[in-house]
Formats: sequence, structure tokens, C-alpha cells
Amino acid sequence: MSQPSYYYQELQEMLQQPGCPICHVGRKVARGQLDALLYDSVTDKESREKLASSMGFCSAHSRELLSFPGERLGATIIEWALLREAQRRLKASAPSAGSSWRKRLLGQDSAAAAAADPCPVCTHQAEIEARSLRELLEHLVGDLERPLAAAGGLCWPHLELAMRSASDAPVHRALVSLHDQVWQGLIDQMAEFIRKRDYRFSQETISDEESAAVERSIETLTGTYPRAS
Ligand SMILES: [Zn+2]
Ligand SMILES: [Zn+2]
Repeated sequence: MSQPSYYYQELQEMLQQPGCPICHVGRKVARGQLDALLYDSVTDKESREKLASSMGFCSAHSRELLSFPGERLGATIIEWALLREAQRRLKASAPSAGSSWRKRLLGQDSAAAAAADPCPVCTHQAEIEARSLRELLEHLVGDLERPLAAAGGLCWPHLELAMRSASDAPVHRALVSLHDQVWQGLIDQMAEFIRKRDYRFSQETISDEESAAVERSIETLTGTYPRAS
């Protein structure tokens, strides 16, 4: 038997914890890239300039820069360079030609907005998430489906992506059946929570699981971590 791939091993590790394993992989990759950029940007002017050309990161990843203990200097150097770049662009700007500001502000002219480079961390994260998802689908039936169900399945955004790429009938069936069961459990727990909050049943105890089902549903519908897009 051939050696398990790096992506497969990563998935197995991520499936040990609750929540969407693809979100966990994405989070790890994003943090690794941000950590490396924090280091490079302090020591390497070229890396700082490259970052400035894309105007840095999206809102979520910019905020995450501040979550690395002891890295405030690196974050400050990056943001210092970015704000200087914004200042340079501001001074070099001229009144915009063409459509009126009313039209632009109403979103009828989105060309300018679309021209901005995407966040480099989002781009890399999306590539690795897609690669991990492919690996998960390849090993789903009879292998990773059990641990995936135990972890609570994929989040809705990653499940949608999986459903779009799962052309194989058994894989599609496994995805539907697994998530149908997991979600039914959450739906039942939330229904019980709602029922027990009625004064007629207020003497019945609400379990921790019933109380936490709303958090798990939010994670399921939106992903385990805040996402940039
Ligand atoms: Zn996810
Ligand atoms: Zn981003």
C-alpha cells in the first residue's frame, strides 16, 4: 500500500477535533502563511514592498495578524508600510474620469472595485482547502465518512463546494446521508430547547447539548472560523 499523502494525514489530524476539517486546514494554512510573512516583513524589504503592491490582506486576515503573541512589531512594520502605500496612492490620485460619483457609489460601476488584488492569504487558503477537500472526497466512502460524521460534518460553504465537485454517485450519497443525519440531530436539539423554554414545560431540564446546538448550527452554516469571503 502506498504512503498516505500529506493532505490525507492532515485531514486525519483535523478530524480528531469537532468542526469542519476543511475550515481547520484553512485556518492552519492561513496562520502559517501570516506567521512567515510577519517574520519576512521584518527582515526583508522586498517582501514588504510586494505586500504593499496588493495593499495587504483582507479584513479578517489583517485582524488575525494581531493574534500572534509577541509579533506586534512585525504587524506594526507591515501596517506601517501599507498605510504609507495608501498615503502615496492618495497623493497621486486625480479626480476620477467617466461615470459620476453617484453611479459609482450606487454600485453600477464595479470595474474599479474588481480591479483590486485579492488578499494573498485568502488565495492560498482557498487553494489548499480545495486540495484537501478533493482528498477528503477521494477517501470518504468507507474510510473518512465515520470520523467526519463524528466531527459534525462539513460546514455549509465547504459542503456546497464538495457537492459541486462530487460527480461520483456513492460519494454524493455518502455526503447527503452523513449530513442529513448530523443536521437532524442539531434540528431536534434546537426544537427541544425551544419547546422547553415554553412555560408549560419549564420544569424539564435543558441539556448542555440542547443549549449549545445553536452555536453548532451557526458553525455549520457559516464555517468554523470567520472567513474573509
Ligand atoms: Zn468549512
Ligand atoms: Zn484574507
